[in-house]
Amino acid sequence: MAKVLIIGAGGVGQVVTHKCAQLPEVFSEIVLASRTEEKCKKIASQIKRPIITAQVDADNVPELVELISREQPKLVINVALPYQDLTIMDACLKTGVHYLDTANYEPLDTAKFEYSWQWAYQEKFKQAGLMALLGSGFDPGATNMFTAYLAKHYFDEIHYLDIIDVNGGDHGYPFATNFNPEINIREVTAVCRHWEGGEFVTTPAMSVNRPFTCPEEVGTYNIYRMYHEELESLTKHFPSLKRAQFWMSFSDNYLKHLEVLGNVGMTSIEPVDYQGQQIVPIQFLKTLLPDPSTLGPRTTGRTCIGCLVSGIKDGQKKSCFIYNICDHQSCYQEVQSQAISYTTGVPAMIGAKMMLENHWMSPGVWNIEQMNPDPFMADMNSYGLPWKVIENPPFNWSQQD
Ligand code: NDP
Repeated sequence: MAKVLIIGAGGVGQVVTHKCAQLPEVFSEIVLASRTEEKCKKIASQIKRPIITAQVDADNVPELVELISREQPKLVINVALPYQDLTIMDACLKTGVHYLDTANYEPLDTAKFEYSWQWAYQEKFKQAGLMALLGSGFDPGATNMFTAYLAKHYFDEIHYLDIIDVNGGDHGYPFATNFNPEINIREVTAVCRHWEGGEFVTTPAMSVNRPFTCPEEVGTYNIYRMYHEELESLTKHFPSLKRAQFWMSFSDNYLKHLEVLGNVGMTSIEPVDYQGQQIVPIQFLKTLLPDPSTLGPRTTGRTCIGCLVSGIKDGQKKSCFIYNICDHQSCYQEVQSQAISYTTGVPAMIGAKMMLENHWMSPGVWNIEQMNPDPFMADMNSYGLPWKVIENPPFNWSQQD
């Protein structure tokens, strides 16, 4: 039993708080802190168990240290924004508390994300006897576990990995993002990188796409190749991979809006002068777009996120598709959130549970795929994200050696 501090009261923070509250035998006390305490209180009011709320600026290490010292949690679950990863890790080191997040560090003024900044904390966490678990959402998170699980149980060696993220949901707005708009738009407008032949190959953003038919009649969607952070850690930890790609579905409507917004400069992170005031266009755009945490009641349809893996087993070529399907409305019934926040928040809770129950507790900075996937995969089935494996699926387009 342990006290946990959740930082960030957005769409994902809401799900993590609900899911931790469902397991009092693991999370005996829950503190929810964010920049706007009102949002923490709103989430707390949805939950029968008492949730302690607090205001904190997570860009400010002394403020974080003061909060952590006062509350004395065993673990901090960081579901604020990637900009806060390093300040929260610093505060955890100063206060002797374990750390978990769902997205790697990104500097506010550079549209670039990579693990180097957080991997640089390896020795500090190890020497402090503390654990930092990186990327415990869905992608990264469950997709890394899917890959590790297939590599462990279905293959002798994995060669091709295609991570496929389909959102077949509809919220009825002309344009909205399913998680933080600023982070989402920075991610999808970035130059595409995929791993091939021992290096990352660069192609223009959104320049490669293909149709993908999901299992269980979720539908056929156009998926676009893009860079995603788990490619960096998975190709490091599974060096047998000859190619690794990430694909995400986007509707024509979403892409049309994004193109126009990009063309007129609204997705830029460079400050502009507006009537004597400096504003960052993408941050202004965020204020105009629907808050992702309000999409829950109006989003219908299902997500299908999985990994298509090819490789060798007993000298034979084989392939597997491992996936989860999640229904937006079922998530809303359970935790008042749509499936994108749900599929991120549940693995964050499970990752925290793995650490607190000592399945994974080990000093240092770890990507999730370095951990034993078995107890995590069992908990995915128990706590709302059941998964299936299709061996040698009919749609195997990834096995090309
Ligand atoms: P939201 O924007 O909905 O929520 C972010 C929350 O963090 C807000 O409540 C915000 O406060 C708070 N916050 C921001 N800055 C600070 C700060 N300086 N101090 C304290 N609190 C702060 O985002 P999401 O919930 O959609 O996403 C949360 C995280 O999850 C992001 O890092 C995102 O990248 C990650 N994610 C990971 C996924 C995965 O599968 N791995 C998928 C989806 C998201 P305020 O409300 O006051 O602005």
